[in-house]
Parts: sequence; structure tokens; C-alpha cells
Amino acid sequence: MTTTMLKEKLPQASIQHSILRVALPVPLAQCFDYRLPPHYSPENLLPGVRVEVPFGSRKLIGIVLETDSHSEFTKLKKAYRIIDDAPILSLSLLKLCQWMSYYYHAPIGEVIALVMPQLIRQGKPAMLEKTIHYCLTDEGNKADVSRAPKQAAIVALLKNNALSEAQLKEHEISRPALRALKEKAFVDVLETDVLPECCKSPQKKTFELTSAQSDALSVIAENTKHFNVSLLNGVTGSGKTQVYLDGIANVIKAGKQALVLVPEIGLTPQTITRFKRYFDVPVVAFHSGLNDKERLNAWLHAKRGVAKIVIGTRSAVFLPMPELGLIVLDEEHDLSFKQQDGVRYSARDVAIKRAQMCDIPVVLGSATPSLESYYNATQGRYHHLQLPERAGASTLPKFTLVDLKKKKMEHGLSIEFIDMICQHLARGEQVLLFLNRRGFSPVLMCHSCGWMAECTRCDARFTYHMKKNLIQCHHCDKIERVPPVCPACSLSELQGVGVGTQRLEEALTSHFPNTDVLRIDRDSTRKKGSLKALFDRIHSGEPKILVGTQMLAKGHHFPNVTLVGIVNVDEGLFSHDFRGVERMAQLIVQVAGRAGRAEKPGVVALQTHHSDHPLLQQLLRFNYNDFADTLLEQRKPTGFPPFGYLAVLRAEATTDCKPLDFLQAAAQLIRGYQIDGVRLMGPAPSAMPKKAGRYRAECLLQSTDRRALHRVLSGLKGALSGLPEAKHVRWVLDVDPTDTF
Ligand code: ADP
Ligand code: ZN
Ligand code: ZN
Repeated sequence: MTTTMLKEKLPQASIQHSILRVALPVPLAQCFDYRLPPHYSPENLLPGVRVEVPFGSRKLIGIVLETDSHSEFTKLKKAYRIIDDAPILSLSLLKLCQWMSYYYHAPIGEVIALVMPQLIRQGKPAMLEKTIHYCLTDEGNKADVSRAPKQAAIVALLKNNALSEAQLKEHEISRPALRALKEKAFVDVLETDVLPECCKSPQKKTFELTSAQSDALSVIAENTKHFNVSLLNGVTGSGKTQVYLDGIANVIKAGKQALVLVPEIGLTPQTITRFKRYFDVPVVAFHSGLNDKERLNAWLHAKRGVAKIVIGTRSAVFLPMPELGLIVLDEEHDLSFKQQDGVRYSARDVAIKRAQMCDIPVVLGSATPSLESYYNATQGRYHHLQLPERAGASTLPKFTLVDLKKKKMEHGLSIEFIDMICQHLARGEQVLLFLNRRGFSPVLMCHSCGWMAECTRCDARFTYHMKKNLIQCHHCDKIERVPPVCPACSLSELQGVGVGTQRLEEALTSHFPNTDVLRIDRDSTRKKGSLKALFDRIHSGEPKILVGTQMLAKGHHFPNVTLVGIVNVDEGLFSHDFRGVERMAQLIVQVAGRAGRAEKPGVVALQTHHSDHPLLQQLLRFNYNDFADTLLEQRKPTGFPPFGYLAVLRAEATTDCKPLDFLQAAAQLIRGYQIDGVRLMGPAPSAMPKKAGRYRAECLLQSTDRRALHRVLSGLKGALSGLPEAKHVRWVLDVDPTDTF
């Protein structure tokens, strides 16, 4: 591979350079050399411009990383054209891409493709969308059109300000009259760039910051000049967002830009509105709900510095922001910050690296920080800013365990718990039930012979969806009709076993016929706008029972919810992933955080068969930090993160033994490197050895020495494709994996 060092500006000698070194969006590690396009003089050519080149039989768009006078290859092809006059990607972004390529062992061209919006990748001009405005000309200002009332109406509207097409439409003006005015040159048409709107009279906060908030804010305010990381560790509703807002306000005052990263599910219209209303500068949102044009606009607004604040999801971490002065990453523990395909980066870690490269601060926030960030904070590597209490009038909910041992159950709910629901509803309050299983039942079983409906493409059971009389695999989405009788014994009909959200919804509806039961999961919110409609109904405040999956866990405020029930805690307690318990605790604390948000105190009831489990007992005291301390103690001897570093090599194939064969060969290579301190675990079949018709296996690499681990990975990256076994599998290398099984 050609190693390419980025230079600030190409040296004088570059005038002679006629070789372009280009990163192309192909799954190959190297850069590609091309000759300059015909008649192109390279004087002002800087790294970061787009270039169109021939690649095999295709035309590809790539980014020039450098120029050179020599190439180690002969017979170079000519590039077709240089697309940009000035770099589309800044040097600092290119350097970030190079770091990612090195750290995640991903092809540079694929990393670079990640940081550009679709239209830029396609070679479209880097131009903002235009809007059309109408205004009066000098003649129009003097003209007397009173004899044509429709024209006069338009002239009156445009007297003091230019109006856009849409604004004119609102006034129901007459099109022919407008055309007549244009023809008489009384009205002129202006084409201008679309600009982000900003709030003219921003709302000020109506309260004083708590002392914990002020303390946190002053640490952030005192550390704006250089790179540093703060962990804002504040319980749900403690006013973290308020601290971000005020921290950002300081940065804006200093003329800088701020980037706010939030999980996909947390970027609700309410969040965007809250930010937009707080500032009198343009706030721009960047997320997957935007179409290509809107994404390009937002990208260009960020790049040109017009967007002072950008609030976005994972990929917003790459937005070009020349005046970037602060990065905030909310809910830093959230898994959606990790990309699970292609270049498997963690937006949190990339954000920290970017801040380090730009020498600016980062604020990570969470009520339930990941053990990695929590550990860094307790070790003094991050500022540890704590908000232990809720802001304003609301108090933290009380936890209670509902012991299920030998108790009578109805559709997954104990009688004791149903009584609690009755009490809260009778007081006119709302109840939220959390169950991380959609569908009616997780299993469809024959009562006579015990046969269970299993997916043929996965090592998994079908979930039973009763309403549609279907069974569906939640791992590969395969759907089948429910067989009329048991396919094994033909003796009896099949029954759903176990409880999913649909069954819970149904059971509660028949138990509480006079109360609305709302289900919120992927099935009930598939239609556009349906989630918002459900939230509107919840916010009406009337007594209601909400049943939902983790879609309910994040960011939402439900002021009238006073009882939160966690239907099945035990699943998380005994997970096989080393982060299983950490995740369970995060989920419980986050779901619990929905309760008692207003003046009314909240209760959180956990149903479990293991009420004396020490970890549960500790969580009950609602102190996530103590809990995290205990987990860290337990994890320390394993050398797993944060006490060591991990990488997973995964392989899959349609034939059973191929992935393991490949991994055995890889293991042989790894042993051959003889690098001390790198532990190899496996190869072994994955926790779900077959998924979507493919057999899967993996091996895990662990080390307390990050550099040693990366030396192994660098060696592997080059060698793996050369293995004969590699022809039969698809493999990926996942650095800092969030799932190890
Ligand atoms: P978090 O981000 O930690 O969940 P928010 O910033 O959203 O917390 O604050 C929760 C609620 O408390 C919001 O309605 C917010 O307006 C309010 N709030 C925040 N800080 C204060 C304060 N110092 N005094 C009173 N209310 C506050
Ligand atoms: Zn049967
Ligand atoms: Zn399946």
C-alpha cells in the first residue's frame, strides 16, 4: 500500500507533479495513482479535491490525497477531470480519515466515502439549493397599479420586503398578476442560497442553574481552549441538556461552531426545537430522515460556517466544521454510536480523536455512562462532572422488587403488580411497562408433542404474531403462516408460549377495558408519523397504560407516568455477553428515568425470580455509580475493556465448516507473529451459529497493550485475503466491538 502523508500545502516542486494519488471508494487498502487529466495545470491543486477516474470498466469519483512526480506503477491511466477548484474535504478531516483507516483497519477510500454526503460522492456540484424571492424594482416602487387590484395587492405585500414563492402562496396571490408585474419590470426575481433559519427571539431559561449544574458549567467554561474530555454524569432529569445549552452558548459567543451528537432515537423534533429556541444563531439538524438534497444543504451550511450549531446522529461526527469549538455527545453509552457494518467505527471514540486533533473540548453526557468512560473519569483522565439530583421539582423514582418465585402470573404479570397498576390508574396517572420483546409470544409450541416453530435460516425460534396469524424470525425477518396443526404430530393446534408486547397489550386491554393501552414497538410505529401520533396521545395526560420495547427507554419525557414496570429483569442478569449486566443496568435506569418526571413521585417495579441477586440489590438503591464500581471490580481480572482492548475477527459462509477453517488458518498466522501480551480466544462458533442462512464463527483478540494488539491486526489485515480459506468466507475485523458473541 502507498502510505500517504498529508502536507499542509504542496511544496513548490509540485508544479511539476503530474501523478495524482487518489483514494477511491473500493474495498481495497491502497490508494491509486493516475496521471493528470489532459490540459490541466496543477498549480493550485490541493489535497481534498474530487477527481473522476477510470477504474476497470467503471468511472469512479475519488479524493486526491497528494501529488507526486513518480509512481511505482507504469502504464498509468489519465484521470478524466478534477471536479473541485478548492478542496471539498479539509486537511483536518482527511487526517481524521487516515487515523480511522489505521485504527479500524479499514480501506482509506471507504472511510473517506463515509464523510461525504451522497450527492458529493456522486460528483454533483458542491452548491446549496436555491430559493426564489420576489421584490419590487425601483419602477415597481413608484408605479401606480391601483386600477389592477390583484397587482396592487402584490405590490403592497412586497413594499418593504422580498418574499419567497411560499410566502406569496400563503397570501393567495394571483399568478397572472405576478406575471404581469414581472413583464412590466415592476417585480424582480432574486435567486439566493437556501440558508438555515434562526430563532429571532430565543427563549431564556426561567430558572437558576442548580449548584451542581453551575459547577459543571464552570469546569466546561474554564476548559475551552484546548483538548480535554468531560463526563457529565447526571441522573435522568438532572438538567444535563441545560448544561450543554449554556456550555454551547459560551462557545458561540466566542465565534465558534458546536457539534451535538445524539442517538438516533433521541433526536426527536422536541430536542431539535429545544435547541433551536435557545439560540439566536442557526441550528441545523443532520440525521437519516433528511433527503439527499437536505443532507447536502446541511453539510454545506456546516462547511461554510453558516450553521453555528449542528445537532445530529452518528455520521454527523464527520461534518466539516471549520470553526468547530466544542463537541457534545449525549447518551454516550448508547450503542447506536457504533456503526455495525462497513467501517465499524464508534462515533464517541472518533469524536474524542477529532477533538484531540483540533485541540478542542468534548463533553460526554449520560445518566448511565459506559464503564469505559466512567473508568476514565474516575481515573482522572476526564473531568468527572456529577449531577446527583434531579433539577426542579421532580424527584427520583423509588425502586421496588416484585418477587415472582412461586407467584401466580397472568400473561407475564404478577397479581401484585396488577394491583399496583390499578392504584396508579385510579389516581388518574399513567403506567409504563417495559418488555424488550415484540410480537405476541417468543415461541410457538405444540402442546401435545413439544414441537417448536424454528427458523430454517437461523438458529432461532420464530416469534408468533397472533393478529396477522404469522410467525416471523426477528433475526432474518423470514415470515410464514402459522401451520393449521402441528407439523410434527398433527394432533393439536399450536400455542404461543411466553409473553411479547402484543400479548401484554391484549391482556391489559381485557383486564382494564376502560383504559387506553398503547403499544410502542417497531411493529406499531412502522408507518411514518405513527410514533408522533402515539406520543401525542400519551401527552394528553389521561390515564393510560403504555407497553413498549427500548424505543421507550430514551430521552422522552412522560410527565404523568408514575409507575414503571420492568416485566422481565432476569434476562439481562444472565446474558452471555460480558457487557450484558452493564446493558441491563443502563436499560433499567434509563426506563426508570421516565417515571416521576413532574411533581408526582414515581415508582419502578422490577419483576424477577432473583430478588436477592446482589447486583439487583445494589441497583435498587438507584446509584448507578456504585453499581458501576462493582462491575469494574468484577471486570478487572478479565482484562476486558476498560482494562484491556478487544478486536473480533468474524467469518461467515453458506457452508458449515468454512468459517472455522478460515479462522483456524488465521489463528495460525496470529500465533506465528509471536507478539507478547496478545491473547487469542477461539475460534468458536458464534452464539447464534447460523443466521439468515449463513454459518458464523469468530475469534477474539485481547490485550492490555493497545499497540501490540494493533501490530497483530496490521499484520492480519494484509495476510488474511491471501489465505486460500478466505475465498470461501466473508470476514470482518471489528475493533473495539460492542458485541463479542
Ligand atoms: P436531562 O438532560 O438531564 O434529562 P434536562 O436538561 O432535560 O435534563 O432537564 C430536565 C427538566 O428539568 C427540563 O424540563 C428542564 O427544563 C428542567 N430543568 C433543568 N435545569 C433546571 C433547574 N436548574 N431548575 C429547574 N428546572 C430545571
Ligand atoms: Zn405436536
Ligand atoms: Zn431467521
